[in-house]
Amino acid sequence: MASLSDFKNEALVDFNKPENRSAMESALAKVKQEIGRDYPLVINGERITGLKTSDSINPAHKSQVVGRFQKGTKAHAEKAVEAALAAFGSWKREPVDVRAGLLLKAAKLLRERKHEFSATMVYEVGKTWVEADADTAEAIDFLEFYAREAYRWGGEHPTTRIAGEENKLVYIPLGVGAVIPPWNFPLAIMAGMATAAVAAGNTVVLKPSSEAPWIAYRFFALLEEAGMPKGVVNFVSGPGAEVGDTLVQHPKVRFIAFTGSKEVGLHINEEAAKTPKGQLWIKRVVVEMGGKDAIIVDRETKNLDDAATAVVASAFGFQGQKCSACSRLIVDEAIYDEFVPMVVEKTKRLKIGAPETADAQIGPVVSEKAMKKIKEYIDRGAKEGRLVAGGNVNDKDGFFIEPTVIADVDPKAAIAQEEIFGPVLAVIKAKDFDHALQIANDSEFGLTGAVFTDNEAKLEKARQEFFVGNLYLNRKCTGALVGVHPFGGFNMSGTDSKAGGRDYLGLFLQAKSIATKK
Ligand code: NAD
Repeated sequence: MASLSDFKNEALVDFNKPENRSAMESALAKVKQEIGRDYPLVINGERITGLKTSDSINPAHKSQVVGRFQKGTKAHAEKAVEAALAAFGSWKREPVDVRAGLLLKAAKLLRERKHEFSATMVYEVGKTWVEADADTAEAIDFLEFYAREAYRWGGEHPTTRIAGEENKLVYIPLGVGAVIPPWNFPLAIMAGMATAAVAAGNTVVLKPSSEAPWIAYRFFALLEEAGMPKGVVNFVSGPGAEVGDTLVQHPKVRFIAFTGSKEVGLHINEEAAKTPKGQLWIKRVVVEMGGKDAIIVDRETKNLDDAATAVVASAFGFQGQKCSACSRLIVDEAIYDEFVPMVVEKTKRLKIGAPETADAQIGPVVSEKAMKKIKEYIDRGAKEGRLVAGGNVNDKDGFFIEPTVIADVDPKAAIAQEEIFGPVLAVIKAKDFDHALQIANDSEFGLTGAVFTDNEAKLEKARQEFFVGNLYLNRKCTGALVGVHPFGGFNMSGTDSKAGGRDYLGLFLQAKSIATKK
């Protein structure tokens, strides 16, 4: 531990530099050679193939299957829980140097191969270079941050002294966990949830998202290379309903780390609350869910151009498929007619293209199902408001949707209340700042939010009243950094677990007080 430097965020790659561009191009070419392979389940280090498979599709080129993944069954999920339980017996006894050491080694390998990981996400989920690089950088950050956190949680915790006794408080791991990630940060969130649990001394079954199993497998293989013992992480791809439910309901599973939609998160929470025969505990549930994030732009904002740039970046980065994405823009009526056209103009300038090309700013949405659902919302929104940018779908090669802005939306309209999870921005007019705040808080979600104003009293009011887990003032509402902006939301956005924060590892630990009479 003594040699560990303070945590620092991984620098993002500047793709304007020719050497970085060519490094990414080489990685894209290399990873392209690997497209279309078959991948196994891995339970206790054993590779299992020969099952029915499902295809992971490149959303920018829909005829391209990037990989075929085993459809694990209930029996595989159960076998993986048993393997994790067996491995827990020894992994929980490993000193923190070994557990944290695994994460640090993995971080080193990931840093060395960062472009290959980013390239995999370009092909598998349609991330642009910049978005893929940010995802990989965040994964490296989680590894580095949670390794340091494992030391901190494994260290001394103060207790009040009394005469005649020596008292200690130690944090011990929980047991076997189910890790169920989403596809939208398919490296960072998946790696973060899995390795936080493992660094704390738990063992897990990782069920990757069916939209993004390739990047998850690549990371799993990297953990093996970094020296992870068999059974500590078990890789079980397969249908969410079958594999996921089996894990969530299993009496030997002690905790669940889930990030995904509200619907699935609530279902998991309900299932996990049951205590099947033979279960000795109440399951610990970490569920991070959706958002309907708002940016308020107040009349006392001097630099409206900066605000418009931030809105467009927040709304359309990764095609709006971020839980933190701005999907509601709430504009003070005094500047509405000036500001909305600025947003529209910047939106129309975004370059749509296949994400493997360096200059594409907007790639495809993740799947045909997502595309259809988003298009339905656009059609509905065009009736609920006034379509001022985008609205069209191009599904000739892939699942492309123009970045879409719908103005004059009622705060209670469906597109202002429901998570669309695509490149659709609903613009709402507010009478004044208080009204804007009231509209912003009129949501079942409470994940991120931002306010633009140069009035300090209004900023202070937002600090007090804007009910979100991650509030940003005079900046965009996406791009949370590990350690800097611990991330998680209120209400239907989840259990506010604050990934990348100092509370996070504690969610995978339990405290034991030990009193010794002297
Ligand atoms: P999703 O809920 O469809 O799927 C998430 C995971 O749950 C997948 O691995 C899926 O296979 C699995 N799953 C599906 N049915 C299951 C079941 N019955 N039992 C157990 N597991 C099951 O979500 P998604 O489409 O992958 O991700 C997008 C959602 O994630 C959005 O709502 C977004 O806002 C949210 N998200 C939230 C955060 C956050 O930190 N709050 C971060 C990223 C994404």
